[in-house]
Amino acid sequence: MSSQEGDSQLTLDRLLLANMTQPQAQEALGRGTAVLVTGSIEQHGAHLPLGTDAFAALAIALRVGARLDAPVLPLTAVGVAPYHLPWPGSLTITPATLTSLMLDVCAGLSAAGVERVVVVNWHEGNTPAIRVAADRVQSDHPVRVIVAEAHVVTNGLFPDEMEFTHAGSMETAAVLAHEPSLVRLSELAGGDPVDQGADGHALFRRRDVYPVMRDFREVASSGWYGTPTSVTEERAREIIDSVAEHIAGSVEEVWKALGERRSEDGG
Ligand SMILES: [Zn+2]
Repeated sequence: MSSQEGDSQLTLDRLLLANMTQPQAQEALGRGTAVLVTGSIEQHGAHLPLGTDAFAALAIALRVGARLDAPVLPLTAVGVAPYHLPWPGSLTITPATLTSLMLDVCAGLSAAGVERVVVVNWHEGNTPAIRVAADRVQSDHPVRVIVAEAHVVTNGLFPDEMEFTHAGSMETAAVLAHEPSLVRLSELAGGDPVDQGADGHALFRRRDVYPVMRDFREVASSGWYGTPTSVTEERAREIIDSVAEHIAGSVEEVWKALGERRSEDGG
């Protein structure tokens, strides 16, 4: 599908597995690829909705599904986010719940002919459980799991514009691309100094020796930091399209490389 003029919401909604009839779903899943969506329901200050991570993942996943010609299924809106619980409205599931859910759903997808599950995730707290689930899915079923960390891709493609903050430009862009009316910049309040939040976050994002997050107030006492005012609706849509393009291209690249390695092994 061409992304030249952006994908209309109606076209994208047709990719949702839940919107398909059974014969449509059977045909779509039989093509071999399914896209799962994982996000989070957690506080993002007074200017972004609780579902920011869920909406961000969904907006990108639908555009990835369009490019891979694959049905899209939100696995869960609530993610693993115990460190946001000090703010009422934030919710969490345990890693074991997320793992079980993914395992159960992938069993059904595999039975329908899916051999490639692409997980489009927008929430750091989900990653360990997704990896545990992927191990089990791959050992129990003839399915390969490929994980796309959509927030990492967004920041990686646009490092200056899309800051890796919490409730800043990157997440505002994602919600703008999903549904602009959910962004309430007129309510903007508080927010920790960006440098201070970034330093706190960097501690938990170290790759060598790192603590595990327990309470997001250790990053930002207000719950958020960043620059949510720096992105327009039009630019947000361009960025989200580029992110989806990059993810779909990377999935094909990874898939091809895995296939070549298998055939070098002789099977
Ligand atoms: Zn978020």
